[in-house]
Amino acid sequence: MIDTSAFVHYLSAQPGYGGQIVHVEHIPHRDAEYAELEQPLHQSLDRFLREDKLLPLYTHQAEAINYARQGMNIMVATSSASGKTLCYNIPVMESVLTEPSSCALYLFPTKALAQDQLRTLRDYPHLAPEAATFDGDTPQAERAGIRKSARVLLTNPDMLHVGILPNHQSWSRLLRHLKYVVVDEAHIYRGVFGSHVACVLRRLRRLCNFYGSSPRFICCSATIANPGEHAERLVGLPFRVVASDGSPYGGKEFVFWNPPIIDEAKSVRRSANSEAANLFAELVNSDIRTLTFARTRRLTELIYNYTRHRLAEIGSAQAKKIKAYRAGYLPKERRQIEKELFSGELTGVVATTALELGIDIGDLEATVLAGYPGSIASTWQQAGRSGRSGDKSISFLIGVDNPLDQYFMRHPDSFFGKSVENALVNPDNPYILRAHLLCAAWESPLGSEEVFGSTFEREREGLEEEGLLRERRGKWYLSPAVAYPAQNINIRSTSGENFAIVDTSTNSLLETVEACVAFFQIHPGAIYLHQGESYLVEELDLPSRTAYAKLTSANYYTQTKELTDLHITRVIKHKNCRQTRVYLGEVEVTTTVVGFKKKAQFTEEVIGEEPLDLPPQHFPTVALWFDLPARVAAGLDKGQLDFAGGLHAVEHAAIAILPLFALCDRNDIGGVSTPLHPDTGKAQIFIYDAYPGGIGIAEKGFDLVEQLWQTTLRAIKECPCQEGCPSCIQSPKCGNNNKPLDKKAAQRLLEGLLLR
Ligand SMILES: [Zn+2]
Ligand SMILES: [Zn+2]
Repeated sequence: MIDTSAFVHYLSAQPGYGGQIVHVEHIPHRDAEYAELEQPLHQSLDRFLREDKLLPLYTHQAEAINYARQGMNIMVATSSASGKTLCYNIPVMESVLTEPSSCALYLFPTKALAQDQLRTLRDYPHLAPEAATFDGDTPQAERAGIRKSARVLLTNPDMLHVGILPNHQSWSRLLRHLKYVVVDEAHIYRGVFGSHVACVLRRLRRLCNFYGSSPRFICCSATIANPGEHAERLVGLPFRVVASDGSPYGGKEFVFWNPPIIDEAKSVRRSANSEAANLFAELVNSDIRTLTFARTRRLTELIYNYTRHRLAEIGSAQAKKIKAYRAGYLPKERRQIEKELFSGELTGVVATTALELGIDIGDLEATVLAGYPGSIASTWQQAGRSGRSGDKSISFLIGVDNPLDQYFMRHPDSFFGKSVENALVNPDNPYILRAHLLCAAWESPLGSEEVFGSTFEREREGLEEEGLLRERRGKWYLSPAVAYPAQNINIRSTSGENFAIVDTSTNSLLETVEACVAFFQIHPGAIYLHQGESYLVEELDLPSRTAYAKLTSANYYTQTKELTDLHITRVIKHKNCRQTRVYLGEVEVTTTVVGFKKKAQFTEEVIGEEPLDLPPQHFPTVALWFDLPARVAAGLDKGQLDFAGGLHAVEHAAIAILPLFALCDRNDIGGVSTPLHPDTGKAQIFIYDAYPGGIGIAEKGFDLVEQLWQTTLRAIKECPCQEGCPSCIQSPKCGNNNKPLDKKAAQRLLEGLLLR
């Protein structure tokens, strides 16, 4: 077992150490808390669980099972590795044992997780013969048997959407007797994907109703700020939340590691990736079993190579005991690496988030996170890969040059305190809802359909006007022109419209990219990563929606610049916050990708810039915007501060900070700021959802706007730079080359917004 404090001390005594350790959180050892069930377990189940050392139950497990037995829908939101699976496996096993025909449906976001869970279920003698996975890999020959007799079906939302619901007649036995629906990793279902899944679950509920069943839902999630709200929006039913964790914990030293500043004026820090490689080498060389997480496949390889060389340089035998792991590898290679890590043949692995979820890789002692993974939930999930056995562990979070990373480096309390992240879905998104109404109509003609919420009638009428639905005696049928709608709807994307990427050396299809992001990812000159290989896009043919690309050894990556216009179509609601009016509304956004930058790998240095000539793209979405305090604006002139630069800086920083409150990526949000907006005749800052129809982010920002202003102000004010830098007000995506920007004006404006 590692002596974590000694290791931290050792690092800080190294000759090259430059004060990187900005915080060490001592997460104490915690003993398990147990509880009894209100009603005892079925005898044979009790015996089995006892033999497998799964009893007594932790308090949260007992609480969840008690509620499930009372017929409530439950959402279990406790830490990773807290034994959440028992919260659903026990009620399901009980019903399989005691009710001769009852069935359960388990949904996992990936096939690998479903297969992993099947291996667990196979250990339960009661369930082994009853459980089966059903996904794209299930052999045709086995499918009929599964439909006929499986009682616990493990699948993913994609398969439910495209394979099971549209063929519900052949699944009628399962649907008629469906008692439990398990939705594991529910926090993954957010944004576009989550909004689709919310509609798929409504289609499922509707068909269950048709077959006369009304299953209970058991959802599990990482710790989020809104577990109850999220489960209710996702499923559309009331939920009971179980969040007090009774599982034991071995204790952890969580180190926040901020690379030293190498350019004072611009506040540029040393690369987080080389810091990660150094830490990884130190840990592995001390024979500490370590998993390092990199943000991209490219960085995974770079950190791996760098660490291996470094270990070889110092003559460490460990150089041969590390490997890289990423999504592009063949399943066989991945299983091999998982096995070697599990058995201890390997001391360390560098991985992308492909390894983040559930897959059992045994117990590790240390984790290194090269950059904040984008959410507190993911950070805990990644850091939680060390210390699962109940022994002490150590984790490092390395800060990169961006506002959220640096905010946490300065405010570790806001990371370790109460979760502020909200998982968001928008089941009323008209584009997504309409797509699923067509699927629902295929499954069974539409009637009054309360399950689809308050916008159902409006969207149904819209589809009727488009000729996609036809009314007959109070029922709406799918027009014969629409064949098998589910097949054309990818629930992991907003639109069904994709661009193809063709490899010109083989003339074969590499992959497809969603239309709404195509101009950002596969414009001419773009470097596109496919399975860890870099491809250079040589041509983008718009009429045929095809990009032509070839393999390249280029050692840079590309980042687009865009210009945005925004037009207000409707104010949904407004409110006063402090002395300012804040609005939420429907807007029409027009973005034009105007050029791109080439950035060197690892150093992030800009090595080139090229213009692009692409047509503008329009889409309707949801935005929040607010007025600016007039007195402050007038005062800026006197202080020779730039009003427009202040607005622009507030916009950039607020967009970077919003993912602290709403589980999303900076790229899921867009912004516009202007000293005079034509629709309002005033200075305005807009923040909008970057997906057609909106996915709930701007709405959450509207609700929490005061906190958003406060946190944005802190991020700007506390940044040590003089004129603004990537850690506060600069944005890598800015179409105006980050001009004008005025850090002091931004600070004044935010202070003005927060005046009482
Ligand atoms: Zn700064
Ligand atoms: Zn900008």
